[in-house]
Amino acid sequence: MPTPYDRLVTRLKHAHALGTVADLLGWDEQVNLPPDSADARAAQHAVMAETQHAAATAPEIGRLLSELERDSATLTADQLVTVRHARRDYDRATKLPTEFVAEKAAHSSHAYHAWADAKKHSDFAAYAPFLEKHLALARREAELLGWGDRPYDYAIDRHDPGLSAAQITALFTELKRGLVPLVRDIRASKVQAATNLFQGFPVESQRVFLREVTERLGFNYRRGRIDVSLHPFCSGTGADIRMTTRFDADNPLDSLFSSIHETGHGMYEQGLPLAHLGTALGQSVGMAVHESQSRLWENQVARSRVFWKFFEPKFRALFPAQLAAVSSDALYLAVNAVEPTLIRVDADEVHYNLHILLRFELEQKLFSGVLAVRDLPAAWNALCTELLGQTPANDREGVLQDVHWSSGGFGYFPSYCLGNMIAAQLWDTTRRTLSGLEDDFARGDFSRLLGWLRDQIHTHGRRYETMELVRRVTGAELSPNHLLAYLRERYGGLYLT
Ligand code: ZN
Repeated sequence: MPTPYDRLVTRLKHAHALGTVADLLGWDEQVNLPPDSADARAAQHAVMAETQHAAATAPEIGRLLSELERDSATLTADQLVTVRHARRDYDRATKLPTEFVAEKAAHSSHAYHAWADAKKHSDFAAYAPFLEKHLALARREAELLGWGDRPYDYAIDRHDPGLSAAQITALFTELKRGLVPLVRDIRASKVQAATNLFQGFPVESQRVFLREVTERLGFNYRRGRIDVSLHPFCSGTGADIRMTTRFDADNPLDSLFSSIHETGHGMYEQGLPLAHLGTALGQSVGMAVHESQSRLWENQVARSRVFWKFFEPKFRALFPAQLAAVSSDALYLAVNAVEPTLIRVDADEVHYNLHILLRFELEQKLFSGVLAVRDLPAAWNALCTELLGQTPANDREGVLQDVHWSSGGFGYFPSYCLGNMIAAQLWDTTRRTLSGLEDDFARGDFSRLLGWLRDQIHTHGRRYETMELVRRVTGAELSPNHLLAYLRERYGGLYLT
């Protein structure tokens, strides 16, 4: 006879499995869908969303949760983690009326197309009403869930449970204080990474190289794959990870680094305990920790000298003619090129966080009502000029560049910057506790780092919230100082000597 806990887990796994089917439909939509099949896919998405919502809000889950909470003294520590998170998810799902969920889903779809069109024509005014409605929906959702007085904190909590705008503001303010002078000094440097070093890199050979790199880092291709899509992403669970990349014959590093980034996300998912898939013990902590995993591999590891010490000969062997005139130093500088850009996804590590500070500040102003949607482009451009020293010539390279807001994804941007901070703090810890790690990398062996991340982070699922996890693993509160020290060391060493 299954216990109430077993019955709860069966229910949770059932709802989760439906979610993974929906994810697979989404992956297929971006990788394989024939051009005129979008309407059919939208209908499939709608059915899946409805089915999933019904499974996640089944009254039986509510009854089992009440029963388990009443007898909580009989539960193990792990079971309590599952029950606590299941309660939170169940309450959130059941407090949102079905009509509201449907309205938001339909609006997201319309707003996405309006955004894509507005971006194409660089016409913010055409998109503004959709963004206004998204904001209204976000406020309404916060209200329905009891966060009416703190709607932006709710938006953050959706991505990074337990974090608040006030905590993030404190961290970002300190980061900005150290970052602005560093950016200024590097931009004044006489050292310049050469652009246009890379021309005519056949896609097939790029594929071979990135497969070798990602496999060596530790991605398990028996439980995952990589395909091509317009924008790189990683979806699925540890049982079946779907990563994507894109190729440009004249920019092999773009594909390589975005693939390493997605590999970091994929390896995190693959490291979550498979047996607990569908419950909190088999889930990631939140987006900031997720981003820390992708950033650590993409930046701290793959932009390091020792990484290239191992991979440069392999890179050259695949592209001997293309790299004949490129020195090792020029290649390494190109890997760590610092160049201001208006576009977040093209930004280097030094500038990247400034792009996030901008979005975080504007999101807060939109939610507090200090800033009206119609005034957003002007506010964006002014802040961009202040922080990045560049002013967008149009809305396409300004306020319309990111997809996030078109699906109502407010509160997501800070996760990127928090992820960078966490990655740097983890990196600092590994360098203090795993001696000889860089010698491993120089030999092409990344298993000790992955093993450490598995033990310290992946294996715990959602047992600890972000800040607690960082404290436990690194022995200190999350601080921007590790990121600043890392940037000063790596980029100061290249540009400020
Ligand atoms: Zn990412």
